[in-house]
Amino acid sequence: MLNYKKIIVTGGAGFIGTNLCSFLLKNTDSKILCLDNLYSGSRKNLNIHSSDKFEFINHDIRNPFDISCDLIINLACPASPVKYQEDKVFTAETCALGIINVCNNATKYNSHIIHASTSEVYGDPLVNPQSEDYFGNVNINGIRSCYDEGKRFSETYLKDFAEKNHLTYNILRIFNTYGPFMAHNDGRVVSNFIMQAISGKEITIYGNGTQTRSLCFIDDLVQGIFNISQIKEKNTITNIGNDKERTILDIAKLIIKLSNSDSKLKFMDLPENDPLQRKPDLSRINKLIHWKNLTSAEEGIEKTIKYFQTLDV
Ligand code: NAD
Ligand code: UDP
Repeated sequence: MLNYKKIIVTGGAGFIGTNLCSFLLKNTDSKILCLDNLYSGSRKNLNIHSSDKFEFINHDIRNPFDISCDLIINLACPASPVKYQEDKVFTAETCALGIINVCNNATKYNSHIIHASTSEVYGDPLVNPQSEDYFGNVNINGIRSCYDEGKRFSETYLKDFAEKNHLTYNILRIFNTYGPFMAHNDGRVVSNFIMQAISGKEITIYGNGTQTRSLCFIDDLVQGIFNISQIKEKNTITNIGNDKERTILDIAKLIIKLSNSDSKLKFMDLPENDPLQRKPDLSRINKLIHWKNLTSAEEGIEKTIKYFQTLDV
């Protein structure tokens, strides 16, 4: 096993970061430094780690940092459309200045970088499934652009910077992931639908619900990120997620069923530039890591419902 002594996880107090830090603390000897400014993450998430191998540093990655490490996993960035649109300049700066600061720190300490990119680099895709060779269909002046273009810039910068300065990286284009430790009020589809279903409120379907997403359970994503950290091939760009595609309407019905809810559907306007289809082509990542038998939506959503039921909100 590749043994990184010190790993920086930027955005470690968020949804993916909390689960990833737990996994790393449990399965490796690495010291984990979580750099986060708590913009969309929470202190409650941090409190679940009791290990003395874990340290939280309250830092905004728009500002430079100087911390020795062997690996930086760059997750910092609000991911929910509601949250990343709240302050679009902050989001764009987090993507752009964040990757510049990550690269500069990595150069000083010769650290490897794993960077969280997104399926949003494909925008509202005109091909389905999306493979890494697809250039995407992205509006540069829309409500999602701060995030989509921010993430596209961060990929470009990381690749070019790494080539110029002999750094190594793995870029992961993450597709919709859900599970425990998502913020209950972050506005994403699974958190919204579960919170609505368990409190008997109407389920808010944007548009007619025929748009699709492919949902990945968090444990699978975390295992995939870890597996990528262990491969010999450096400088890779891959999709990561689950390729079982469903309509939003089907996701709503499944959540209603699994939570034994009486909630009714409420149809609302589809937000601007909301992608109509999304499904990862996973052939590239499947050649790099052994990563099969992903969690079914039924099992993953049941676990997530249980998590949301324990919250005191
Ligand atoms: P999240 O919002 O739950 O977590 C993001 C974390 O980053 C939070 O703890 C937040 O406080 C922190 N953060 C934001 N801006 C920061 C800044 N300037 N400086 C320091 N910390 C900052 O989101 P998530 O779902 O955990 O996503 C993590 C990463 O994965 C993001 O980069 C996101 O773009 C990417 N991603 C996630 C998904 C998904 O489905 N969850 C899909 C595609 C890509
Ligand atoms: N969505 C919905 N109702 C909600 C929240 C989201 O119908 O309460 C839809 C949204 O319009 C999109 C899909 O669910 O088509 C996924 O939205 P999310 O915000 O989770 O992430 P996205 O994939 O759009 O970044």
